[in-house]
Amino acid sequence: MNTLKITIALALCCGFFPLGGVASDAYTEGFERYADEMKKFENYGLMQASAATYAKEMQQVLRKQGYIGKRLPIPQAVEVTDGVYTVVGSLIWHNPANFGLNNNLSFMVFEDGVFVFNAGANPALAYTLHQQIKQVTDKPVKWVAVENSQGHAYLGAGYWVDQGVKHLYSHSLANRDFHKGFDAIKASWGSRVGHELTESARDVSPLFTTFDDTMTVEVGGGETVQLMNFGPGHTPGSTVVYVPQRKVVLPGDLAYNERMLALFAYTDTRKWVESFERFMDAIPHDVTVIPGHGAPTTMQQVKQDTYDYLKDMHQQIGKLIAAGGTERTLEQIDQSAYADRPVYEQTYRNNALHIYLEFTGGDLGVSNE
Ligand SMILES: [Zn+2]
Repeated sequence: MNTLKITIALALCCGFFPLGGVASDAYTEGFERYADEMKKFENYGLMQASAATYAKEMQQVLRKQGYIGKRLPIPQAVEVTDGVYTVVGSLIWHNPANFGLNNNLSFMVFEDGVFVFNAGANPALAYTLHQQIKQVTDKPVKWVAVENSQGHAYLGAGYWVDQGVKHLYSHSLANRDFHKGFDAIKASWGSRVGHELTESARDVSPLFTTFDDTMTVEVGGGETVQLMNFGPGHTPGSTVVYVPQRKVVLPGDLAYNERMLALFAYTDTRKWVESFERFMDAIPHDVTVIPGHGAPTTMQQVKQDTYDYLKDMHQQIGKLIAAGGTERTLEQIDQSAYADRPVYEQTYRNNALHIYLEFTGGDLGVSNE
């Protein structure tokens, strides 16, 4: 067979694009480009084939590892209560300096294995959290649940799938919204945080077990993890994780500590206060709270920083509208009591406008968070 025939045969059987799986991964893309460059040379068919094989092997290894790259320098997880750990995320917006870690990533060690809450904003964060888990226990990660449909809840989930985790949990609406928005969510987080960390994220939402109201997971030693939903709010679908035996609740973005609330196009603040009331009715008030944002705290604190803030805003904006106020007079809304909260400057105007638009039926736009 002459060179030309070999080349044609290889081109037919190898067909570099796509190799299947994580086709847009930066590492394999590099090898694919390399294979392309080989075309410049004589006998390039053979060299191209060898580079393509390398790309394919790389992809298989990557799939098995879930993520190949640096362990990110994130804060060490703190033990909040017996066997319950959390890495408190940055209190500001997601950016390259915090790797997208601006929510809390938690894990709990039970007799039968480890339960992870939130997959993180990218596979690199999931991998890094896994390295921390391995320092604490040699038990395998058996369960992963996500707080809502947002990128920092879901985008790292592919890593856990690759690690063999079979029990993945999400509220049904969150699962639907993440699946529907996957391309836009991934693109948004990639551009805000860094594509090299985000590119290997894939949509594994069909592998999740979903629930609507509550679901109980047996975790060994007679203990259970309760997955609960109290209704829409920050996001249409969300999961609250409650562990009665450890007296700890992880309400996700239903509850914030200290940080100013971020309101997105899909946020319904009136439903949020109702969901928060159901949450307070259902969960004992003496448990430790690991909120969606901010350090572990008490029920009283998250009530003050989440519910009371929304109630105050509703009251002020309701009054303003009743008195004939408009979008242009929103600066009269007094949020000075919250001025020392993280991201106040970036959020307070939008929060007032968002609630005003909710009250007046205005257009809230689109968010790809
Ligand atoms: Zn969030």
